[in-house]
Amino acid sequence: MNLERLFEHGLIIERENMGKGVIFLPDGMADLPLKELEGKTPLEAVDTPAMDAIAARGSSGTFLTLPEGLPTSSDVANMSVLGLCPEDNYPGRGPIEAASQNIILKNDDIAWRCNLVTVSAEGILTDYSAGQISDADSKRLMSLLQDEFGDERISFHHGVSYRNLLVLHGREFSARVDYHKPDSSHGIPISKLGLTPADDSAEAAHTVAFLNDLMKRAADFLAAQSSGQATHIWPWSPGQKPTLALFSELYPGRTGAVISAVDVIKGIGKCIGMTIIDVPGATGYIDTNYRGKADAAIKALETHDFVYVHVEAMDECSHAGDLKLKMQAIADFDRLVVAPVLEALKHETVVFAVLPDHPAPVELRQHTTVPVPVAVCGPGIPVDEVRCFSETEALRGGLGLMKRMELMRMILK
Ligand SMILES: [Zn+2]
Repeated sequence: MNLERLFEHGLIIERENMGKGVIFLPDGMADLPLKELEGKTPLEAVDTPAMDAIAARGSSGTFLTLPEGLPTSSDVANMSVLGLCPEDNYPGRGPIEAASQNIILKNDDIAWRCNLVTVSAEGILTDYSAGQISDADSKRLMSLLQDEFGDERISFHHGVSYRNLLVLHGREFSARVDYHKPDSSHGIPISKLGLTPADDSAEAAHTVAFLNDLMKRAADFLAAQSSGQATHIWPWSPGQKPTLALFSELYPGRTGAVISAVDVIKGIGKCIGMTIIDVPGATGYIDTNYRGKADAAIKALETHDFVYVHVEAMDECSHAGDLKLKMQAIADFDRLVVAPVLEALKHETVVFAVLPDHPAPVELRQHTTVPVPVAVCGPGIPVDEVRCFSETEALRGGLGLMKRMELMRMILK
């Protein structure tokens, strides 16, 4: 074998020894002990043999996904899990989802997440999702809004269900606007949930006034469209075109793929050059195609070093305050996503990790910033004493509290 061939051979061996990684990400799964579950959390009360196997064969710990000073939202949390350090470069949720929808933002554009929401006759925000509005209804309404209000300064874009986008075009606008996250604002009069300028600039004040007027006109317009529970638009988390390092730069020479139903997760992947895999029937809710996600993950790992498998259902059940559905979603996730992937790849050199992006306690119906439980197993990962995956057990784990790139570096060493 000549030198060049030997070198190539060595590289191939080195690459094979690098191993691959899978993160299973059940959105909002972590919770609190509940009286009706005799002091157990939903995760502890449900039988989850596959996630428990990851804890038993490896090490557990906790991970800080929602750093202080940033929104307590899934985009920040999932950026943290992927080692993207949102405390250094969080672009806002609007731009992330715009990337997912292939909307190219110009330098002066500001993208906003724009929910369709329900406001009661008394002026109370009662549903951040307009009753989990169907994709077809949402698409119809967003298209009507675009026809009515779209111009050189405003464009509406349909995403998935209630998760839509509004882009403001022009230097007259600013992203320096404080907002209320709709899924954390249930039961509050919208008169107390107004947008406010986040700095003293004329642009920020103008943007607030412009959007207040647009929201009012959109509500009047929707009321005349038999729009069901979609009574208002709700712009939040604005930002400009993101500038994030690529996955292949953060983890040199490695490739990654994302499997998710929701734009915000696909958008993060797209911003950093990961492959986005669309799974038919992935809905972002409890009726999602769990098994299809598992099959897609197994296949993706043939051609990628890393796969991120995100399931949204638990978070939606938490916001709805539905414990029974959340427990069903946890059981389905374990049995139909985690178990088949572990089984199919049991002879491969793969590091597996499972962690939620943030807690979303059903009693609170919103996210909290408590570090999440994490379990990791695979080649090179020590085995600690923890035998099952749970919020309580993870606190005894050998990994301790992890931050920033520590988890991803362990998975893709
Ligand atoms: Zn989340």
